This record gives sequence, structure tokens and C-alpha cells, in this order.
Amino acid sequence: MKSNLSRRAFFAALVLLANALAGPLPAAEGAGKIKTLLITGGHAFEAEPFLQVFRDIPDLAFTHATHAKESATAWERDDLLTHAVVVLYDMPMNITEAQQARVLSLFDKGIGLVVLHHALVSFQDWPDYERIIGGRYPKPPNGQPQVTEKIGYEHGVDFQVVVTDPKHPITKGLKDFSIHDEIYWGFRVGADVHPLLTTTHAKAGKPLMWTRTEKKSRVVYLQLGHDHTAYENPNYRELVARAIRWAALVEK
Ligand SMILES: [Zn+2]
Repeated sequence: MKSNLSRRAFFAALVLLANALAGPLPAAEGAGKIKTLLITGGHAFEAEPFLQVFRDIPDLAFTHATHAKESATAWERDDLLTHAVVVLYDMPMNITEAQQARVLSLFDKGIGLVVLHHALVSFQDWPDYERIIGGRYPKPPNGQPQVTEKIGYEHGVDFQVVVTDPKHPITKGLKDFSIHDEIYWGFRVGADVHPLLTTTHAKAGKPLMWTRTEKKSRVVYLQLGHDHTAYENPNYRELVARAIRWAALVEK
């Protein structure tokens, strides 16, 4: 009996030690697929080829939610905090105070946030959002995004993507690559982001991908991904999959 107890204590200590050494812990309970909530709404996109990117990630179990027109309603889902990662490919402008509180509730739990492409434009009147995602594409008040020398976007551009941090788990082993996609320029980037990708394209805003942490949560932004030509680019697909896997881990 006594030796059983001490054996149990020994193994309990081993588990504690293993946890301490393992670093970040998976947010999802138990092993298996990464439970992900994919949110769209507020911007048109090619749904089928886009959703296929996520269907083709073997270790992902994702639910697709779309905001209702009036505000960012997908954040009101009862199952929000059961996910390991939330992916944003949305562009709503309105968010209620209750919905803001739901967004902020991710970060005490270490739920990851992966922000894609036009979600850089969302919630122009909510300053916390810019801090959380590490940047903002500023939109003129009451207007559509305008194209000027200072700020704008251009579709169908061929450009070279350059890895700036080859040691990061998201970009490790990836070679520089070319892509046919939309560029943005003139967007703001937070001082505390960690850049992963840039481009040699003179006009394009930089960086193209970055990470940061918000409390216990890992946050990733990827500017690429306007339509099927990007969705079908193997490098884009790999970056999205790795971003989700990385964001699924909780910072201590
Ligand atoms: Zn776009």
C-alpha cells in the first residue's frame, strides 16, 4: 500500500515535470483534431475553394459561422469558448459591447486567433481590435476603402513572398515563393508584432504575416488570400494550416 502510494506520487511528479518541460499546452482537451471556429461575413469571397483549404487540413475539425448583417453576431455563439482557435475571414464594421466582451474572453483562456486578409479592415471604431490583431487597414469614415498613393489595394498582382523568420514554427523550412494575389498598402502595423513574411514588391505593405500574443493567446495575421488563385497556392495552404496549429497552443 505504501509503495503503491509512493509510486503514484512518483508518477504524479513525472507528469508535472513533463508538463513543465513541454512548454505551451494544447488548448483543446485531449488529443485529436484542433477544434476551430471559422468566421466569415461582411465581405464577399469564393466560398467553395476557400472552405476546401480548411477541409484539406487533416488535423482540423472546423465549424463555419457567418455573422448576421447588423453586427458581429457569430461571437454570440454558446460554444465559442469550446474552440482551440478562432479564424477570422470576416469584415464587419459594427460590434456591440457584449460582442466585444466575447472577443476579449478568448484571451484569458488562451484560445488562439488567426486573422486572414480583409479581416484587417474590421471594426474601424474599436481600438482594441487593432491592438489585438497587431494592425489595421484604415477605412475612410462612411466610405469604401479608397485607392490612393498612401493607402489602397490592387487585385491580381504577381509578387514574391520572402520568409523573414526561417526559425519560427509557422515558416520553418518554407522557401520564398511567388503568388498571384491581392496586395494592400498603407495599413498600420503594431510595434509589438513579430514579422514572419515580407515581399520584394515595392508598393505592397509589409510585413505580409506576423504573430503576437494577447494575454495567454497566440495571434497570427496573414495578409494573403483574396481568391481561389491564392487559396490553391500550396504555400498559402501550408501557412494557414501551420498558423492554426501554432495558435492552438496556449502561452503560459
Ligand atoms: Zn481581398
